[in-house]
Amino acid sequence: MPYVASENRYEGMIYRRCGRSGLKLPVISLGLWHNFGGDHPIENSRAMLCRAFDLGITHFDLANNYGPPAGSAEETFGRVLKDTLAPYRDELIISTKAGYYMWPGPYGEWGSRKYLIASLDQSLKRMGLEYVDIFYSHRPDPETPLEETMMALDYAVRSGRALYVGISNYSAEMTRQAAQILRSLGTPCLIHQPYYNMFGRWIEDGLTTVLEEEGIGCIPFSPLAQGLLTNRYLEGLPPDSRAVADGRFLTPDSITPEKIAKVRKLNELAVARGQSMAQMALAWVLRLPQVTSALIGASRVSQIEDAVGVVNNLTFSAEELARIDEILA
Ligand code: NDP
Repeated sequence: MPYVASENRYEGMIYRRCGRSGLKLPVISLGLWHNFGGDHPIENSRAMLCRAFDLGITHFDLANNYGPPAGSAEETFGRVLKDTLAPYRDELIISTKAGYYMWPGPYGEWGSRKYLIASLDQSLKRMGLEYVDIFYSHRPDPETPLEETMMALDYAVRSGRALYVGISNYSAEMTRQAAQILRSLGTPCLIHQPYYNMFGRWIEDGLTTVLEEEGIGCIPFSPLAQGLLTNRYLEGLPPDSRAVADGRFLTPDSITPEKIAKVRKLNELAVARGQSMAQMALAWVLRLPQVTSALIGASRVSQIEDAVGVVNNLTFSAEELARIDEILA
């Protein structure tokens, strides 16, 4: 049976404007960093992508190096797009990035025009796309002039390879400079993708002010601290969890008793709010007016369903926010 998207897919989701652009994004977006590589069954990837879309998640986030092996998450996405989601291409916001290591030699990583455009062409090929909706500089390059990296993003748009551009992992100061350069080129910076969650709050110290002033949207990655800010690790380390089954980016020894004690207290507050722990962690990043969407990862359909339930309670009382700060202190 060919896939037919749910007729009700836009009824339950909330969409927020991305900065001062014309584009709206769902408050929950799905990233393909983990669990969509060539090492995972495509049927699970397809099930997650289709369920997400049925729930109103229109935005899927990729990067050249997602896998493993690097590139294979884009290939998976391309296959699912071709045989399942293709009729809905105009309802999808697909992003990819270049910045981290992709191939050997001096042109396979960082921020040169040479690397960014070659990498974007490879990404388009892997996904079977004519254009991506958002193309990101994945990380700032300390050696390449910022002008060159931003000119490459501008060129990606002018040459028809991308509709919008964004930056990821840039400091507040570099974001300000990047935004000014992009504006002068005529391609405004749409969005910033920073690390942000209850355990990592660096963006509150300057970046959100810059985003507000420059009219740039914000899509925090790892809003659940890779699974730590959920009920996943409250009863020990499950064998099928990211920390145990993968362990490259979330190591078992980083899940300390101190952190788990905090999550336990946060979870009590979530229960009192009538939410799951994951939902409260997502509502918490979405409490900032600058935040457009929370960019989650998932290993199974039920996690996406849980995340989308955040729309039922996005507000916090001053007492709840103070209690969260107290627990995290
Ligand atoms: P999260 O913090 O959302 O962590 C996702 C993991 O948390 C899942 O794989 C799952 O782990 C667990 N989880 C998710 N939902 C639930 C739930 N409801 N209940 C219990 N456990 C849950 O995000 P990621 O770290 O995966 O990052 C999200 C996306 O952000 C990436 O896919 C990527 O697109 C982007 N990203 C960007 C970066 C950048 O430099 N720009 C860097 C990193 C990520 P388990 O596998 O154990 O089930």
